[in-house]
Amino acid sequence: MSRFMHRIFPFRRDEKIRYFVEMCMSIKKVWVEDTCTACGLCEEICPEVFKVNGISSVKKGVNFKQYEDAIKEAAESCPVEAIKFE
Ligand code: SF4
Repeated sequence: MSRFMHRIFPFRRDEKIRYFVEMCMSIKKVWVEDTCTACGLCEEICPEVFKVNGISSVKKGVNFKQYEDAIKEAAESCPVEAIKFE
């Protein structure tokens, strides 16, 4: 790594790698497609993020990083694969 990069990002190499991996892997956006059948499973798994009221929706102002495992579990558990994230 160049001296310039070390000046603007003065961490050890393994810390830099971990930082970039976390930046790339963290969930930044979650949404529910209109194939949702309102079964309520996602709200049961992660009520901090999902609210089912007629159809499931994602609550506003949630820090997705805090609930990544639960979001992924909800997406994997959704019977119609309506939960998407990136
Ligand atoms: S688990 Fe899927 S189908 Fe069930 S309420 Fe949530 S988004 Fe809708």
